[in-house]
Order: sequence, then C-alpha cells, then structure tokens
Amino acid sequence: MSRITGTFCSLCFLVGLAFAATAIAQPAQPAGVPVLAYHRFDPHTPAATTVTTATFESQLDYLVGHGYSIVPLANIVAAVLRKAPPVASPVIAITVDDGHSSVYTVLFPIIKRRHIPVTLFIYPSAISNAKYALTWEELKEMRASGLVDIQSHTYWHPNFRKDKAHRTPADYAAFINSQLTRSREKLDAQLGTHINLLAWPYGILDPELEAAAAHDGYVAAFGYTGGVARPGDDPFSIHRIPVPDFAHGSAFEGLLRNAQAHPEGNITKAGHE
Ligand SMILES: [Zn+2]
Repeated sequence: MSRITGTFCSLCFLVGLAFAATAIAQPAQPAGVPVLAYHRFDPHTPAATTVTTATFESQLDYLVGHGYSIVPLANIVAAVLRKAPPVASPVIAITVDDGHSSVYTVLFPIIKRRHIPVTLFIYPSAISNAKYALTWEELKEMRASGLVDIQSHTYWHPNFRKDKAHRTPADYAAFINSQLTRSREKLDAQLGTHINLLAWPYGILDPELEAAAAHDGYVAAFGYTGGVARPGDDPFSIHRIPVPDFAHGSAFEGLLRNAQAHPEGNITKAGHE
C-alpha cells in the first residue's frame, strides 16, 4: 500500500513538474506600455493642464531611476500593431498635445539636455497664428533635433461631439474628413513629414471617427483614458495617461500603477484638451 501511495505521489510530483514547466514555457501576458500625455509646461505656475518644470523633471528622474527607457512613440505603435515584438523591459513614451509655446521654451531645452524623444500632436490652424502657439520655425527646429516627432491633432481641434449634434450626417462626415486630411496635408507640406498618427481632441472618439481616420491614411490614433497601450489593442483608440502637476513622487508612481491596474483606463469625462 505504501508502495502504491509512493508511486502515486511520484506521479503527482512528475505531473506537477510538467504543469510547472508548461507554465514557465508560456509567454507572460505583456504588461501595458504607458504613454504619457502632457499639454503645457511652466517654470512656476501649475494650472489645469500645465506641469511645472520641477514636476516634469522629477517625473523624468523617477522613470530613469526605475529602469524605464523613454522610447519614440512609433516603437509602441509598432508593438500595438504587432509589427514588432512586445517590449520586454519597462518602456514609456511621452506625448504633448496642442502645440503651446512652452513646448519650445520649457520642454525642448529639457529633452535636449536629457536626450529624450517626444511626440507632439499639433493642430496646424493655431501654428504661427494663435498667440499661445508654437511657430512653424520652432517646429522645424525641434524636428531637426531628431528628438521631436510631429503628428496630427486634427486641423482646428473641434469638439466632434458638438459638431455631430448640429450637423447633418453627410455634413458631419465631410467635416471629419476635412479635419483629418487638412491637418495631415498642412503638416506634411510645412514640415516635410509623413504624418500617420493622430490624437483625438478632448479624447472624443467613436466608430465613425475611427473609420474616417483609417480611411484618411492614419495608422493609429490616441485617446485620453488613463489606460495603457497593449499589443492587439484597437489601433485607433490607443490609451494614454494624462499627467497632472500634482503627479510627483508617490502620486506619479500611483498614476502608473493605476494605469496598469485599469489598462482600459478609467477616465470617462472629456473635460480636458
Ligand atoms: Zn488637444
């Protein structure tokens, strides 16, 4: 009896080992990649969508100190589209929406000093036009550094939800097409780029917008939900994490941890830019 028990236990052990080996052999579910979304920078004054220089530098220090590699956004898009293997080490990308002048005066010197790649989502109607906005010359200089990738944020940053409410379906479809195409064509013409990424204004998107972006030649588009980017995600609603000024120290760590815990994001209000 004891021999049978012994044999049984040995089998159990071997079966257990086989299961353990299978578990080890299976690739782990890749963790999501955080894509940070900023708007404005200020040396002193934080505001709703502004991060102070000190906070931003502390966030970069945190990332470097915790082994993150800050990579071009295109690398993450390739992984989401499964055109590149999922990234193995902790990586993160930095994006900045709207093209405010502080991108040139505050952010650009920091990323040059630290040699960090950044993607700017720009709506061209404001460039060299609105008081608060960057100029084409500044965009060209930043792009020439090799650190700054420039992509589309539509042509004039509409609130698509409002336009959908007051336009006829045909007019709305034409309006979407115009916003997506004009932005890409203007940026390409001014900067010699090949725009293929988009950030949705106010984080607003729906299936009609996604289909229009695909039809207009974009390969991926970004929302603003607080989640993370994962291989196989819908490429036209890739999650990003809005970064507020209070997110320094443990609050920044909490922001990243919350995004991994809620990879689909848990920001539902489109009360940002
Ligand atoms: Zn915006």
